[in-house]
Amino acid sequence: MHGLNEQELHYVVSRVVNRIKGGQSSAALFDDPDMAVNAAQAAHEQLTKQHGLQARTRMIDAMRACARDEAARVSQMAVLETGLGRVEDKILKNLLAADKTPGAEILKPNCVTGDFGLMLTERAAFGVIAAVTPCTNPTETILCNAIGMIAGGNSVVFNVHPSAKGVCAYFVTRLNEAIVAAGGPAHLLSMIAEPTIASANALMAHERVRLVVVTGGPGVVKAAMQSGKRAICGGPGNPPVVVDETADLSKAGESIVKGASFDNNIICSDEKEVFCVADVADRLKQVMVQKGAVEMRGQEIARLEKLVLDSGHTNKDWVGKNASVIAQAMGKTVDAGTRLLLCEVDSEDHPFVKTELLMPVLPFVRSPDVDTAIKQAKKAEQGYRHTAGMYSTNIDALHKMAVAMDCSIFVKNAPHYSGLGFEGEGHASFTIASPTGEGLTTALSFTRERRCTLKDHFRVV
Ligand code: NAD
Repeated sequence: MHGLNEQELHYVVSRVVNRIKGGQSSAALFDDPDMAVNAAQAAHEQLTKQHGLQARTRMIDAMRACARDEAARVSQMAVLETGLGRVEDKILKNLLAADKTPGAEILKPNCVTGDFGLMLTERAAFGVIAAVTPCTNPTETILCNAIGMIAGGNSVVFNVHPSAKGVCAYFVTRLNEAIVAAGGPAHLLSMIAEPTIASANALMAHERVRLVVVTGGPGVVKAAMQSGKRAICGGPGNPPVVVDETADLSKAGESIVKGASFDNNIICSDEKEVFCVADVADRLKQVMVQKGAVEMRGQEIARLEKLVLDSGHTNKDWVGKNASVIAQAMGKTVDAGTRLLLCEVDSEDHPFVKTELLMPVLPFVRSPDVDTAIKQAKKAEQGYRHTAGMYSTNIDALHKMAVAMDCSIFVKNAPHYSGLGFEGEGHASFTIASPTGEGLTTALSFTRERRCTLKDHFRVV
């Protein structure tokens, strides 16, 4: 794949939009939520009647192959269109979603037998799902959602973030083509061509939508919860990381820089603030600076605050930008390869700690001891129960923080992205549902349990 410049990007997107609006059989874009739901309903019925589990797996394999082929292109398109993140990191995120999102194999039936006969539980589709997706992981979320939802026998209509609609239209179309080429129905995936908050709400309220799945900030979570439908909500977070005096500081310093700068910190689970026991704070900062962070001091932090915060909220102009670009804008020239701007602040009440910045600016608080650090981390996380991490070799301390944080993801001695399955064990997901409790969503989350009871027969003993 060659690099796309801006002109080529617009050309690709406009060709996609025109072609798919031209009524081809795998058309994926709809102007109207009602038309999109009708098409998705027909696709779901076709999937249920004509395609078994093996066929679904063939479709999912085709989607994985398509996503691997397209990873570099869509990463580049996403950065150009949204202005967020780093192409090289987005490629890794897309490949992670393609390789480690579970398919239909995760849907295991359950069987109980006894004196009265047999009981079988199976996972069944909901039907048509409305999925609202973010600009921060646009194609990764679509891919994880699509694989899990189709594995569960559903179809899905996406209402994507308006600032990522071009790359999402391109990707949904390519995935749909892959499904059709693998023998699947058209329109298993579809998308609102001009997504807005109004179209998201219309989709969520649609009478034939059986499940709502949203990934984003507090506004969309609230809207989904008020939709009157069963909702699975991946909401915001503000993940803290604690480093205590027993930690391997070389590993901790390097891993925090890698994690907190991954895709310029726009992933919801990326490290957003550090609490370090005072005895080892200078040494940890030293390692972080050796590994690609630049420390901001005194007035530089005050100037950075003015730049990236707007009346106490994150200034969106700087979300997902490179550290060197942000530094330049507040008047400091740093090496273009700088990954992270490290800011030591006086307490957990500093606005950099309290605000989900979604950029490579990492506040660092010196804590008197590990217990205080855990308490500060708990306060900074603000009850989202999303993600937290710790570097320590003291199993009592690790256990204490894991229990106290009560999060969907807790990472010990590794970058937080390991909790998404990247250089870590376990499956991947880009919809981490903390408010509604599913955690890293899979096909299991997108299916309903159905029980069949048979009296007295089909036992072999
Ligand atoms: P966002 O909330 O601005 O937008 C997400 C989606 O929701 C978009 O499609 C948007 O159009 C829609 N939306 C926003 N407000 C809405 C409303 N009131 N009604 C209906 N739809 C609405 O978020 P973003 O900037 O795209 O992504 C960043 C945010 O998402 C961060 O807060 C991040 O933590 C969170 N996030 C969470 C997860 C997770 O899995 N938990 C994953 C990615 C992002």
